[in-house]
Amino acid sequence: MAASNAMQAIHDAIHEDAPGEELAALPLPETMRACVIRKEDEHVFDGVPEEEQDPSRTLHLDEVPIPPLGPGEALIAPMASALNYNTVWSARFAPVSTFRFLERFGRSSELGARHDLDYHILGSDAAGVVLRTGPGVTQWKPGDRVVVHCNYVDLEHAAGHMDSMLDPDQRIWGFETNFGALADISMVKANQLLPMPDHLDWEEAASLGLVLATAYRMLVSPNGAQMKQGDVVLIWGGTGGLGGFACQLVLNGGGVPVAVVSSEAKAEQLRAIGVEHIIDRKAEGYRFIDDEDNIDESELRRFGKRIRELVGQDPDIVFEHPGRTTFPASVYVCKRGGIVVTCASTTGYNHVYDNRVLWMRLKRIIGSHFANYAEAWEANRLVDLGMLQPILTETFPLADIGQAALKMHRNEHTGKLGVLVGAREEGLGVRNTAQRTQLEDRIKLFRELA
Ligand code: NAP
Repeated sequence: MAASNAMQAIHDAIHEDAPGEELAALPLPETMRACVIRKEDEHVFDGVPEEEQDPSRTLHLDEVPIPPLGPGEALIAPMASALNYNTVWSARFAPVSTFRFLERFGRSSELGARHDLDYHILGSDAAGVVLRTGPGVTQWKPGDRVVVHCNYVDLEHAAGHMDSMLDPDQRIWGFETNFGALADISMVKANQLLPMPDHLDWEEAASLGLVLATAYRMLVSPNGAQMKQGDVVLIWGGTGGLGGFACQLVLNGGGVPVAVVSSEAKAEQLRAIGVEHIIDRKAEGYRFIDDEDNIDESELRRFGKRIRELVGQDPDIVFEHPGRTTFPASVYVCKRGGIVVTCASTTGYNHVYDNRVLWMRLKRIIGSHFANYAEAWEANRLVDLGMLQPILTETFPLADIGQAALKMHRNEHTGKLGVLVGAREEGLGVRNTAQRTQLEDRIKLFRELA
């Protein structure tokens, strides 16, 4: 599906680096291309086994109206986005249909009601250009090159002012809100915008936000594990979106990552970025819990012994997200007084573990979810400084988002999967060529080894 003439003119202007006034003067199209799930599909996977729930069946590229702009908001033209696991969950309508989020949002206010539609535009990461700003926006203007973080919050509640992730009305943009990144035009709150790192291309810049800021909060922030120099950190899924940034953050902070992966090729990728201690969970055949939730203690001991063989101690921090199948091991191997920090349950959210090893050995479990604006800003600044590299391995056109989602659902990817939205081709959008040249080898490393 081709973009309309008006959209084409906007994309051309962005490609030519037109000044903001010129972009602001271009008319917006009435409709646009958007990757959506449809409410009518909500039950197509009822009774279908999880592994056969193919997200490409329910991700559609539709022509939909441009969202109406409200106070404190901005319309942006995403040049690129990235696939996140939340798009896979959304497309599978699991564990709940995201239309329930939109309905609840719709009941909350007049502005919230705009989101409650029978289609849901997905996508929680974007790099692009501001096209319009709503009343009250002072920090951003048309033409600004931005990346978007996905913490969508008004901050009307007192609770959110210590940490916006504690606001009861906090939502994840493009998952719990409509008008996400996988569209020609997206609607965001101005307090979701961050300056785009100028040495990256559109798809690289779009690929970092959600997973990086999440990993930053989990490991570095006072809201997370507050990793210290020398801390041993066990990282599940070391070449995944979260894990790839966790490894880099631990190395940057003077910690010792012990990364778990499921193939030698993935281990090779991690060695190349400086991770020395790697466990291949498939090759070593760990099975901590059976289908009836019985924990195999001998497997926990075998895993703990393996970590001690590698680094001589138990992990100070365990970076958790697979959930049900790994959680008993994470709690068991964590050092006395250590921290298990968790943000997800990909393999199941009912966790079983031996609570004696938690309380008797004074361990703590910290629940963590995305990041506040300050944490997202700080993580983006590290990218801008060249201290963190993208882990983009493949980029898909918007029309092929279903293939990308299927790949992620089957765990056949490594690193991040990019999506071209407005960008005509890969590799565009770099402004700081000197910094780019300096970092080029490191930026491309993960992709070349994928
Ligand atoms: P990802 O790119 O798919 O990476 C996940 C990694 O987990 C994979 O690379 C895989 O590595 C590993 N894994 C998969 N199944 C496993 C199993 N049974 N045992 C051990 N490891 C397993 O996904 P992601 O973007 O990192 O996200 C991971 C999860 O976190 C998703 O559920 C996502 O929704 C959630 N998440 C939550 C937040 C939040 O704010 N709460 C933010 C981001 C992501 P190997 O196969 O190599 O071991």
